[in-house]
Amino acid sequence: MNAAFGPSGQESSVAAVIEEMAKPFCDEIRTDVMGNLICHKKGPGKKIMFAAHMDSIGMMVTHIEKEGWLRFGKIGWIPEKEVVGTPVKFANGVKGVVYCNEMEDEGKVKPEDLYIDIGANSAEEAKTHVRPGDMCVYDTRSAMAMNNCIISSYTDNRSGCCVLLMTMELLKKSVNDLYFVFTTQEEVGLRGARTAAFGIAPDYAIAVDVTGADNVPKSTHACSSSVGKGAAIKVKDSSVICSPAVNAILVELAEKKKIAYQMDVLTGGGTDAGPMHVNMDGVPTSGVSIPCKFCHCPQEMVSADDMESCAKLCAAFAEYKF
Ligand SMILES: [Zn+2]
Repeated sequence: MNAAFGPSGQESSVAAVIEEMAKPFCDEIRTDVMGNLICHKKGPGKKIMFAAHMDSIGMMVTHIEKEGWLRFGKIGWIPEKEVVGTPVKFANGVKGVVYCNEMEDEGKVKPEDLYIDIGANSAEEAKTHVRPGDMCVYDTRSAMAMNNCIISSYTDNRSGCCVLLMTMELLKKSVNDLYFVFTTQEEVGLRGARTAAFGIAPDYAIAVDVTGADNVPKSTHACSSSVGKGAAIKVKDSSVICSPAVNAILVELAEKKKIAYQMDVLTGGGTDAGPMHVNMDGVPTSGVSIPCKFCHCPQEMVSADDMESCAKLCAAFAEYKF
C-alpha cells in the first residue's frame, strides 16, 4: 500500500489496493465524487463512521527552468530542510531528487530555493516527461527497526488505513452499522471527510490518523503521546475538541480489554475528526491515533504494536452496545 502513488487529489491507486484488501470484510464498497472509498459493513445498531485518509503530502510542478530543473509548490505541509537530497517519483515513473540552490546560511532552506532534478539537460527534454501540474511523492525505502517500529514514508496515513483494515478483520458480527471510510485530500484541508460525513450522516465518528510523538530529543511537548506506548485516544488537535462521552467509552473499553492506551493532546495539526464533528447538526467524535516520529519527513516512524492496539480499540468501539 505504501508503494502506491497517492498525493492529495490522486488517491485512486491507493484506493484500488485497499478495495482489494477490504472486499472480504464488508457488504458494500463504493467510491464517492471526492474519491473517498466507503466500505459498509451492515448492522442494526448505531451508524459509526471510521475515517482514515489515504492521501499523502506531495510536490506539484509549477515551473520548468531552461536547464531542466523543476520548481514546485507544496501539496500539504513539507519541512523544507528535511527534503533536500530526497528521491522522488512521479505517477508516470519518472524519478528525481530534491535539492536546493546554494544555501546562504547553512541549514536554512527557503521553499523557493528547492527544486527537483530529474536528470534532464534542458526544459525541452524535461517537458517530454513532466508538465506543470504534475505531482511527485517521496520515493524512499521502508524498513523495520527495533521494537517493531516501522520506518517508511507516508506512515501518515497509510498506517491509519492499515488500522482500519485490521479493525475490519477483527470484527465478527456487526452490532452497529459500520462505515470504514478511506478519505481523500486530508493533507490539503480535511476535504474528503467533509463530503463523506455529509453523505453518511453518522451517529458517531472516529478519525484514525497519526499524531505527534513526544519521545524525541528536546521535545517542546506540543503533543502528549509517545511511539510504543499504545493507542492514543484523541483529546484535541487544532481541528477538534473530542467528545468526552466518546472518550469515556474508549477509555472504558481499553481498560476492560487491557489494550495499551495513552491520551493524545496535539496543539497543532488537524485530522478528519474536524469536519466530522461539525457535520450536519453535530456528531460525537473522537480519534484513535498512532504516534508518529518525524511526521511529514521523507522517513517517518510508527510502532506496529501501537497500530495493533489502535485496531483492537476501534474494533471494540465498533462492537459497543450504545
Ligand atoms: Zn495524517
